[in-house]
Amino acid sequence: MVVQQNDNYIRTHSCFNCYLCGNRGQPLYHGLKDRLFDAPGEWHFRKCSNHKCGLVWLDPMPISEDIGKAYKNYYTHQNSKNSMTWYRRVYQWAKEGYLARRFNYYGNSTTIWKKLLGMMLYFHPGRRENLEFSVMYLPSQPNGLLLDVGCGSGQKLMFMRDLGWLAEGVDIDPIAVDSARSKGLQVRLGTLEEQCYQDNYFDAIILSHLIEHVYDPLGLLLECYRILKPGGRLVVVTPNNESWMHKMFNDKWLALDPPRHLHVFSVPSLKYLAQKAGFKKYKISTTIREANGLFMASKLIQRTGKYVWGCPLSSTFRFWARGMQLAEWVILKFKPDAGEEITMVGEK
Ligand SMILES: [Zn+2]
Repeated sequence: MVVQQNDNYIRTHSCFNCYLCGNRGQPLYHGLKDRLFDAPGEWHFRKCSNHKCGLVWLDPMPISEDIGKAYKNYYTHQNSKNSMTWYRRVYQWAKEGYLARRFNYYGNSTTIWKKLLGMMLYFHPGRRENLEFSVMYLPSQPNGLLLDVGCGSGQKLMFMRDLGWLAEGVDIDPIAVDSARSKGLQVRLGTLEEQCYQDNYFDAIILSHLIEHVYDPLGLLLECYRILKPGGRLVVVTPNNESWMHKMFNDKWLALDPPRHLHVFSVPSLKYLAQKAGFKKYKISTTIREANGLFMASKLIQRTGKYVWGCPLSSTFRFWARGMQLAEWVILKFKPDAGEEITMVGEK
């Protein structure tokens, strides 16, 4: 370890052994650069040699004092806005109809024709996955207390609040927290552990693409378990290191995202983590959500070594990527653990 502190250098520490099961990690990839946000350094990954675990992690890992350097231009700072074209309005009705039918949102106000329109989404498995993710696979619970950990600028929080949840968030990024508060959202700054919530408090806690970023995912899940009410649900969504596209792109796979993704889980390693945190009832599955975006980004990394978030992409390329997403949907019928994203819904 070199003790040198400047913005062009991220100090690191070695981690040879698996965070979860303690087994030795086998070298997986060597000499990867940040393909998205130009954080300094060359990064290597290891994979747990225990086949019942299969965790992938960065070795060496940035030290916690320097991890902020990896997030300078990170996308949680940004907000997205879409204008309401006629197409989007019809799609919005279809979404309402689907969420009403599937998860009981929007109460009795949803008309039959919106529900019928929502059924059209069964012909588009990718869009349907996005929609189920938008409510984090949670059925409607008016006035249920929901916590979004790592809420960023609060897009999901606002959506869940508008669907009837009493939603609040927590995030370590002060710019994102300011942005969320400016929308009237209730958001705390800092780590979850620092907030000292009371025991048995929340009906639902959501962790969307967070556990791969933290040093101590078990500590985080234990804290979630403590502050969930009995019967409350924890929803975790994270990349799957055993996905079809990881096998296709190897070290060019976008979701490795060095040096921000410290641990990349598999279905068995996430199961192991959930059990260690105390969850006895849980459902774990993999999905094709964003497999199209992941395909395009990984392909560009393969071709150019980089991916620029939001860069213009041709319609042919998008069409090809949707085809690959559909192909993954077919593959999942035979290999259910091959999806790009893992979803875990645990009940206390
Ligand atoms: Zn392991």
